[in-house]
Amino acid sequence: HSGPDTWWVHYPSASGSMQSPVDIITEETWQASRENSNFEPLEIDYSSMGGGSNVTGGPYRHYNFLLEQIHMHWGESDKNGSEHYVNGKGYSAELHFVHWNEDLYSSYEEAARNDDGILVLAVFVQFIQKHKNTKTHTDKHTQTHTNSQPEDTSKFWTYQGSLTTPPCYESVTWVIFENCIYTSSAVLKKYRELKYYAENETRPDDEFDGQLKTNNRPVQPIGVRKVRQINSQLID
Ligand SMILES: [Zn+2]
Repeated sequence: HSGPDTWWVHYPSASGSMQSPVDIITEETWQASRENSNFEPLEIDYSSMGGGSNVTGGPYRHYNFLLEQIHMHWGESDKNGSEHYVNGKGYSAELHFVHWNEDLYSSYEEAARNDDGILVLAVFVQFIQKHKNTKTHTDKHTQTHTNSQPEDTSKFWTYQGSLTTPPCYESVTWVIFENCIYTSSAVLKKYRELKYYAENETRPDDEFDGQLKTNNRPVQPIGVRKVRQINSQLID
């Protein structure tokens, strides 16, 4: 078998103390404010997709992070497909926008081996039942899903962790938005039938013939790490 619990055999980082994902216990998060942190509002600019899309501000106010790739994690059911959990509860899926520090490193591969190399924006995706009488609602949700990001990105959690697939390097600063986006059960079903593709992650061997029924790593111990809760409106 080659499941997540055996990754450490070939990828020693996978048994480290700063692994991802984690279960975010909101009561135990540390609240950042203008007084006690050097955070700046997160600035996301994907206007030039494929050429210079970047993120600045947030946990690393001095660095420019370049978008490398986008991928999604999901599970066998609509209830538990996300990688990160919040207070013991998972979402249907989780989108990852993977960025690398282009100010300090010359490639994604180089950045991925260094503490301050990778920044991943994570967006929870929640499955919604379609109701006949909520057309306005559905339209709004459909639009949001097309954008792949929640309308309000001012509130997020952040902590130091790792890639959630081998080699599981502990080089990721996670930014996990509190607000999720929505999609339908049918869309998630299609994702489960997809062939896995992530340009810069080593794909673990799986027993589904490349069809990824599930690709979410179980939550890892938080250990001594603190998750910080950021509200950009308070530090603007
Ligand atoms: Zn991922």
